[in-house]
Amino acid sequence: MPYMHKEWRKIAKRERRKRIRKELAKKLDPITYLTSEEYEFWIKEQEEIQLLELEKIAILNKEENDKWQKAERVTMEKWQKLQEKIENLRQMKLQEEAKLKLEREMEQKQREEEVQRLKEIEEENKRKQKVFQENLEQFLKGDSMDPPEELLISRETRPNADICPFFTKTACCRFGDQCSRNHKYPGISKILLATNFYIHFGLENSNFSEYDTDVMLEFEDSDTYKDFKDFFFDVLPEFEKFGKVVQFKKFHQTWILNFSTFKVCNNYEKHLRGNTYVEFYDLRSAVAAYQALHSRWYGGRQLSLQFCEIGSWKNAICGLQIKKRCPKGRACNFLHVFRNPNNLFSVYNGSNYRGRRTPPRSWRWSESPERESPPRRHSSSRSTKPTKRDHGPCKRKSISITSHRKKSGKRD
Ligand SMILES: [Zn+2]
Ligand SMILES: [Zn+2]
Repeated sequence: MPYMHKEWRKIAKRERRKRIRKELAKKLDPITYLTSEEYEFWIKEQEEIQLLELEKIAILNKEENDKWQKAERVTMEKWQKLQEKIENLRQMKLQEEAKLKLEREMEQKQREEEVQRLKEIEEENKRKQKVFQENLEQFLKGDSMDPPEELLISRETRPNADICPFFTKTACCRFGDQCSRNHKYPGISKILLATNFYIHFGLENSNFSEYDTDVMLEFEDSDTYKDFKDFFFDVLPEFEKFGKVVQFKKFHQTWILNFSTFKVCNNYEKHLRGNTYVEFYDLRSAVAAYQALHSRWYGGRQLSLQFCEIGSWKNAICGLQIKKRCPKGRACNFLHVFRNPNNLFSVYNGSNYRGRRTPPRSWRWSESPERESPPRRHSSSRSTKPTKRDHGPCKRKSISITSHRKKSGKRD
């Protein structure tokens, strides 16, 4: 740009000089009326005027040029700053991207490590379970009433932490093994726990007032209680197969009983809902039942059994529930249990259980998820009506709601 400007100035000067000369020529030539001295003076004067004018133009041009250069500098500075800013942003973006990439890689690595860790735990658990099963078999095959030492080793989730009071009392805790307190699992014990074994629409809905209170659950004609009785008479005989029956036959003249208690929770809380506890009189019976029933299928659901320790049923079961005055209702953290039909096992050292006349619906039990078909012959009154459980949860739901509405309609 400065080069262009200079060129222009040159041309402008030249043109101006030409013009002045022409004008002068046009005017009356002073030579005609001036003396030679005067004429010379006049020429000099004219030249000085011209020089002055040229100087003036030069000054103006310089000023313009300075202004322009200044503006140019400012623009250049601005542009420079902008470029720096863009470069900074670019660098920041690159850094951010690198950081994200690193984080993604770390996450991926952690995920892989976690998968590997879980796999190892699973394999270790499988190995332990295999050894455990072998030991159980050994124990069942042998004559000794005392189990091998290995079976008596208990497992603790956090040996250095305080004992979890809920787990100690009920063998269950809402936090599972993630609990900050210690949970102690026995190797084997006389009590088997099937978590969430009994399911029914009535237990899973706390919204319906009918199901919200223990009182309603115990009504003989409530849907839930009828369903529970079906369950009770289905499941009880399966566990009964594994007891030391003879011993108790002698002791209890009236009835043979191979385990001391059977309790099904009707709590709403997920970790207690439908939990089924079966306490045997001796370890061998409990082990035999575990061996035979763990992982078996009932009503299309796989049974998961575990040995557990309940120091005292009195401490495990909510005392206020028995009096029907528990303020927490089924949200209670202690066991709220169904009253067993005919008050079975309500007294630990005896029972008036005389058995069910109708045969148990053992067809619901299976070795696989495939359910067997119900027997065609229906002799008893119970077996002639269609069993609700087989219609699936939706059907049962509709049955329950209808009867509930009818009842409330009557009240209105
Ligand atoms: Zn706990
Ligand atoms: Zn309670």
